[in-house]
Amino acid sequence: MAVLEQLTSQEAIDLENKYGAHNYHPLPVVLSKGKGVFVWDVEGKKYYDFLSAYSAVNQGHCHPSIIEAMTNQAQTLTLTSRAFYNDMLGKFEKYATDTFKFDKLLPMNTGAEAVETALKICRKWAYEKKGIPENKAQIIVCENNFHGRTTTIISFSNDPVARKNFGPYTGGFIKIEYDDLDALEKALENNENVAGFMVEPIQGEAGVYVPSEGYLKAAKELCKKHNVLFIADEVQTGIARTGRLLATCGNCSCSDKHCSGEPEVKPDILILGKALSGGAYPVSAVLADDIVMDVIGPGNHGSTFGGNPIAAAVGIAALDVIKNEELANNAYKLGNLFRNELEKFIPTCDLVSSVRGKGLLNAILINDTEDSSTAWDICIALRDNGLLAKPTHGNIIRFAPPLVMTEEQLLDCVSIITKTLSEFKK
Ligand SMILES: *Cc1c(COP(=O)(O)O)cnc(C)c1O
Repeated sequence: MAVLEQLTSQEAIDLENKYGAHNYHPLPVVLSKGKGVFVWDVEGKKYYDFLSAYSAVNQGHCHPSIIEAMTNQAQTLTLTSRAFYNDMLGKFEKYATDTFKFDKLLPMNTGAEAVETALKICRKWAYEKKGIPENKAQIIVCENNFHGRTTTIISFSNDPVARKNFGPYTGGFIKIEYDDLDALEKALENNENVAGFMVEPIQGEAGVYVPSEGYLKAAKELCKKHNVLFIADEVQTGIARTGRLLATCGNCSCSDKHCSGEPEVKPDILILGKALSGGAYPVSAVLADDIVMDVIGPGNHGSTFGGNPIAAAVGIAALDVIKNEELANNAYKLGNLFRNELEKFIPTCDLVSSVRGKGLLNAILINDTEDSSTAWDICIALRDNGLLAKPTHGNIIRFAPPLVMTEEQLLDCVSIITKTLSEFKK
């Protein structure tokens, strides 16, 4: 088969179904081009992208300066492995640590790898700095978490679809309710073996659950009191998505010209991925101060591709776009507008019960049971009307467009969404 042969949508879907493992259930649309907030299918139909590859494409599809950095670097040097130094990694590490205000960065590729890295750093810190007896360290996580797909990470998931028949599971994790400070305090009290608390500042995959005001700050203080590392998984919420450079950056209003990234709730370990590359390349990272990161020495951890020169060049360009285009500020403004517009609409529509979110990470709740196909069917109708979104957990639809959207485009999207919902028949 010629690689350049142009397939129809149905042909492309048939190929994936026949030759690919069925580990996803994609919305039936086959995309072949993207630019900014738009994607096009193989028949040339244009859509607003309202998923942004799960918030990896915050900077918009094929951002010219990210693509330029990537192609220039690809023509110069792609991979050395960490057996040797390369002239790009240090620049990226300096730029990212300056931006997020940490001493050091450990580069990986995917979000799950960065989560694994954070867990390993936390355990090693527990044994070498906190003095927890060998093999006794425990890490607290939350119910309904999503941190990725490795065997260790799914060990502390409570999604049966992600877990079942993948055992035996990795031990050493304690699960508590999300957004519940009493539960955290109980788990920390009288347990000298707790090493860390890992949390998503907003639970994205679970359905965009925003915790109560002050939860993260109080959780961080509890961790500090018990000498436990506060680990923020900002793979989805980070890089301007929630209207701030980081969702754990509590005191910046982002009406500031530049979101300063001066966090009020500074995590002991910060996990980034997804939009760290603007969706151009797999780039993830773990950031921490020396007191924590220095437990890692040569040979303790690594990745052949982690910190490669393309990833470094792309990472710098992707963060530059966030700052230069003030995307945190834009996400903050457009997020408020989006929720206001939908809140005006919801009383007129039986189908939707509420909208929630922060910045441009939002979701609507569909008035139906979790196992109904209503949310899926609405997403099909949205697709037909030129907007791509995907249900998460049955009756919730996540809305997370690229942050480079204009106000006019956002209002256009609001009218597509409200029109589709008004006309929808079960
Ligand atoms: C997507 C995601 C991950 C996993 O990232 P991958 O690149 O898919 O491995 C981890 N944590 C959170 C919060 C995520 O949203």
